[in-house]
Amino acid sequence: MGMIKKYFMPNEYVQSIFQIDIEKLAASGVKGIITDLDNTLVGWDVADPTEAVRAWFEKAKEAGIKVTIVSNNNEQRVGSFSKSLKVDYIFKAKKPRGRAFKQASVLMELKPEEIVVIGDQMLTDVFGGNRRGLFTIMVVPVKKTDGFITKFNRLIERRLLQHFRKKGYITWEEN
Ligand SMILES: [Mg+2]
Repeated sequence: MGMIKKYFMPNEYVQSIFQIDIEKLAASGVKGIITDLDNTLVGWDVADPTEAVRAWFEKAKEAGIKVTIVSNNNEQRVGSFSKSLKVDYIFKAKKPRGRAFKQASVLMELKPEEIVVIGDQMLTDVFGGNRRGLFTIMVVPVKKTDGFITKFNRLIERRLLQHFRKKGYITWEEN
């Protein structure tokens, strides 16, 4: 059970990216963010960054934090979204596999302890980040609806959340 916690339990859990204290991250030595796209930054069916998302990226930049978008989605989706924010990106990342996380770290020229991973899925974002020893922040998905595979992952995710809650590892309420 210790292994389950090690791999699937996020270091932090927040309602949305806007609850993440960027200045606090920067003050604690964070220099890079690897973030998921779909249902983390915007709903999976929203093509472009919202004004609030743009402001969030601007804030990170001002705080001296580099951001790389790492998504399992295709080049068209991830590329056009990321380019409009002028940030680096990795598409078809095959999270939770570690290669894309490693690639993003190299791209940002940062050490693991300087990077946080943000995402809405325990089985891809959190698992992938934890496997590489990165600090992970899980967010509540922007949108409730998901694709088929994600639906399956959510089922397992709910069981893991139940387990962590029972163990007293988490205090947040599932929405
Ligand atoms: Mg996602």
